[in-house]
Amino acid sequence: MTTQSATTTIPVSRPFFGPEEEALVAQVLRSGWVAQGPRVTELEKRFAEYVGAKHAIAVSSCATALHLVMTILGLHPGDEVICPSLSFIATANCIVHGGGTPVFVDVDPVTYNLSPERVEEAITPRTRAIMAVHQVGLPAAMNEILAIAARHNLPVIEDAAPAVGAEYFGRRIGAPHGLIACFSFDGRKILSSGEGGMITTGDDAIAGRLRKLRTQAMSMSDAARHSARQIVFEQYDEVGHNFRLTDIQAAVGIVQLSRLPELLTRRRYLAARYTEAFRSLGWLIPPTEPQGLVHNYQSYMPRLKKDSPISRDDLMQALLDRGISTRRGVMSIHREPPYRAVKWDRLLPESAALTDESIILPLFHSLTDQDQDFVIENIREIGSAPRS
Ligand SMILES: *Cc1c(COP(=O)(O)O)cnc(C)c1O
Repeated sequence: MTTQSATTTIPVSRPFFGPEEEALVAQVLRSGWVAQGPRVTELEKRFAEYVGAKHAIAVSSCATALHLVMTILGLHPGDEVICPSLSFIATANCIVHGGGTPVFVDVDPVTYNLSPERVEEAITPRTRAIMAVHQVGLPAAMNEILAIAARHNLPVIEDAAPAVGAEYFGRRIGAPHGLIACFSFDGRKILSSGEGGMITTGDDAIAGRLRKLRTQAMSMSDAARHSARQIVFEQYDEVGHNFRLTDIQAAVGIVQLSRLPELLTRRRYLAARYTEAFRSLGWLIPPTEPQGLVHNYQSYMPRLKKDSPISRDDLMQALLDRGISTRRGVMSIHREPPYRAVKWDRLLPESAALTDESIILPLFHSLTDQDQDFVIENIREIGSAPRS
């Protein structure tokens, strides 16, 4: 057994922070303004510029971002939103929170993203929107999905939680492709502020409504109130939420955004090393990056072939025994208790197979080449041992 010199386990993911994040956070704490304020505004401006969007609206997570977006769709009971089952459960939960019903469609087994054909088949008179997910950082087939949406006059919402820095035919995700895109800055994402989210859109009215709704639909911003020279009283125009990001988190996000090119380069380098190693193995199918698309490798998720020398679960356990932490592939939401009422299984064979046959391997900025070689070597060894 190839053993690691260090006794610690190699985690599947680890955020990367330096003294710059610490310094800016300290500055915010000393400034006395820790709630949503100037740093949030700065992060929004920089994020909008980075992705090429007209508006960026910061919120407390991608889940709350998606929740707000579903709210402004004005869903009524029985209204349907098409989305993949192969995603994190937040993708579907936000539809329920918004008062609608998720309609799961299957994914393309090669890209792990929504199959445009399955999307078109799932459209009914009750469909109100299509939610595309750029799963594990690879853009979905937006041109095809947008064409279908246009034919049926439906908005396309992007769950871009894992897709910061990913590109679709020359434009970053979040630059208008769909109507609205939602990003995550949670602890496992490439750009992390602990928790956090960002919504981008090119639509002025939508941006304004989202800004209000994230702060209890208050008629004026804290900044406007703060700088007023005469007393002012705010009004609460509708039922809103507190989905705000703090300036403390925004400080972390600002520095992380400035690091993003470097973070993405390292990820793509490490992903290429895995892919190169697994090609020769023959039983672990590396993720693909179709022509014209740039994957950010938020997660590196290969799939085991049907005739692999070891099952996915046994591979995960054998790696854990050797100090290497992994995760199963992306979940299938339709298998979880809140979504089992409908018998989806017959409709979602590719999603279920991917959940069962894929694995997420360690990939993070500070993963050393040596530690990655240790992961690769162990996978090779485990796969060449006779099946017990
Ligand atoms: C991470 C993730 C989310 C949730 O993001 P949070 O910021 O943790 O709420 C939603 N959808 C997908 C596809 C994700 O990867």
